[in-house]
Amino acid sequence: MTCHSKVTYLCPNGHRTGVIDSEEGVSPYLIQCPECGEKARSEGYFFAGHINYTHMFYMPGIEEIRQMTDQQIEQYKNKVLFLKKIEK
Ligand SMILES: [Zn+2]
Repeated sequence: MTCHSKVTYLCPNGHRTGVIDSEEGVSPYLIQCPECGEKARSEGYFFAGHINYTHMFYMPGIEEIRQMTDQQIEQYKNKVLFLKKIEK
């Protein structure tokens, strides 16, 4: 099943990050805030459509997996999606 959903994350400093979630896999409950690096918590789909979506979730390809840290490989094994900035 492929569904294109939009979710938002809010960090303790009030930065809200919009993420397009278009891949099969588990969206993480916490991400690193792109603005300040703090842990940002998922707000789910509540704010969908009200903000700009600057990031997306994806599953890395084989080239990227080769360069991963152990922690990232663990994340990959658990099918937790990775975050990247949307290139304009
Ligand atoms: Zn922040």
